[in-house]
Amino acid sequence: MVNKKVGIIGCGGIGSGIISNLVSYGVKNFILMDPDVVEPSNITRQPLFSLQDLSKQKTEVLRSFIKNRVKNASVETYNKKFELEDDLKYFEDVDILIFAADSSNFKDILSDNITTPENILEKFSYRKNIPLAYCGGYKGFTGRVLPIVIPGVTHSLPCILHDIIQTNENSNFDFVLDLNHNTEITLSTIPETCKVISSIMSFEIIKYLSGILPLSLVNKIIFVEFKNYSLSQSEISLNENHTCLCGLSP
Ligand SMILES: [Zn+2]
Repeated sequence: MVNKKVGIIGCGGIGSGIISNLVSYGVKNFILMDPDVVEPSNITRQPLFSLQDLSKQKTEVLRSFIKNRVKNASVETYNKKFELEDDLKYFEDVDILIFAADSSNFKDILSDNITTPENILEKFSYRKNIPLAYCGGYKGFTGRVLPIVIPGVTHSLPCILHDIIQTNENSNFDFVLDLNHNTEITLSTIPETCKVISSIMSFEIIKYLSGILPLSLVNKIIFVEFKNYSLSQSEISLNENHTCLCGLSP
């Protein structure tokens, strides 16, 4: 497991939280991509960054963190925003690619007219046979954890979203499902939500890299509600009404 190579797009609260957990297991080979420098607002939720890191590239601060924690670490960094398929050429030999940047509106991911970063990632993942870990996000007291997608083994993210949105069509599910959807709501975010999401995600990644336990974050989305500490999940319903978009179900 320690020799596996992990690619991470997005080095904010969730991305840096995952890095912090993975290095505790001795994972030492990373490729990081993020365009941002450390800003004062990051310090509250991103404990790997400190006041002396202000204005430094996040990827560079994280490189030092990893190298200070694991012997013989190898960390490649790219200070850019992931926008195009070409940006993924650096990740062609990773064992798993983690997408920890802001996720797109779910309806955009499913739209035929809009190409989101998630759509570009799915194509790359299937073409190169590289598993993807979508991390999800958080707002206010609510967080959601998106699945790990393994080409040919699990359903794709669009397939899962399509099924869950159809199943929950008539419920008041939209805000929880799509944190970006209700844009007039502004909530401050608590650091605990971010830590729980990165912890669930990093353990699932450890399971994948080590094979110690079967994966459970597949074909489903998990919701974390900090107001009452509840966890809930929406799983793809493989009944006769399920329309598979990824070709996994006949
Ligand atoms: Zn499918």
